[in-house]
Amino acid sequence: MNITASSLYDYIQCPHRVWRDIYGPQEEKIQETNPFVKLLWEKGIKHEEKIISKLGGFWNLKEGSIDERFQKTIEAMKNKTPLIYQGVLKYENMLGIPDLLRILPDYSYMPIDIKSGVGFEGAHEEEGEEGKPKKHYAVQLCLYNDLLKRLGFAAHNSGKIIDICGEEVEYDLIAQMGVKTKETWWELYERIKKHVDLLIKNQEKNKPALGGICKLCPWYNSCKKWGEEAKDLTNVFYLGRSVRDKINTDLLIEDIDSFLDIDVAEVMKQKDKEKKSGNKGFLHGIAEGNLQKALNRARILYQTKEPVIYEPIVLPEVSH
Ligand code: SF4
Repeated sequence: MNITASSLYDYIQCPHRVWRDIYGPQEEKIQETNPFVKLLWEKGIKHEEKIISKLGGFWNLKEGSIDERFQKTIEAMKNKTPLIYQGVLKYENMLGIPDLLRILPDYSYMPIDIKSGVGFEGAHEEEGEEGKPKKHYAVQLCLYNDLLKRLGFAAHNSGKIIDICGEEVEYDLIAQMGVKTKETWWELYERIKKHVDLLIKNQEKNKPALGGICKLCPWYNSCKKWGEEAKDLTNVFYLGRSVRDKINTDLLIEDIDSFLDIDVAEVMKQKDKEKKSGNKGFLHGIAEGNLQKALNRARILYQTKEPVIYEPIVLPEVSH
């Protein structure tokens, strides 16, 4: 198995997905593609066709085996081909197929991906807001750039997205991710790539975490079944992977039964004590109110088992 743009994307969506795709119980995987996911694919294909039809001349490497396409891509880049469509880049266990490879004045190549979304998230042209790079776009471009560098066809640290409006948006891959986030996109990529590599080799394993994204995933039934059997904390609404993992490691609580026994005030006292002794990471990011809410939800889900009405609900009288 190779590290690909789609395995990096899957990891960003759900860090468990990469492992389950290879080592999970295949008989439990839903075979039909989710209609919404299918719709997104179709939208993506149409957009790509539209962009490609306007490109003019390019060297099309869409057909053939991966190895043939790789050889042809290398040849095309050595021959200074201006624009390559669907070329294949390979190095050790990394594989990337950028939609386009465009030659630069120094004869290195710029990886370009065609996406049917906006290039930057939170961009509002009318309000003059530029937005910021999207994590999954940035990480995928890092993979292409990494491959180009290792193969000797790039020295720069950038990649481009052609977005839903047909605009080219450049990503500076060694830029800091945000004002408060010191980590650069490249460092994020290296971190994710390392985990994906270990998961692919079955040298690292993590747990499913039930959340909104699961409904679009072919492993939905399988992970739901696992969650119910393990009485995993992510069965509680809004208690996601990071909070679950913190509770697992810091409080040594793995399942709902043990979680229902916690005393929130005591846990908070322990957090204070740990903080004073220098252990700032202990239950980091978990506030008392959120823990109490999660506990209330767990009680309703596993003990009360019926709706709880906190105040009278007065419904207006209407004809229908
Ligand atoms: S169902 Fe959810 S937890 Fe399981 S692999 Fe898919 S996204 Fe991850």
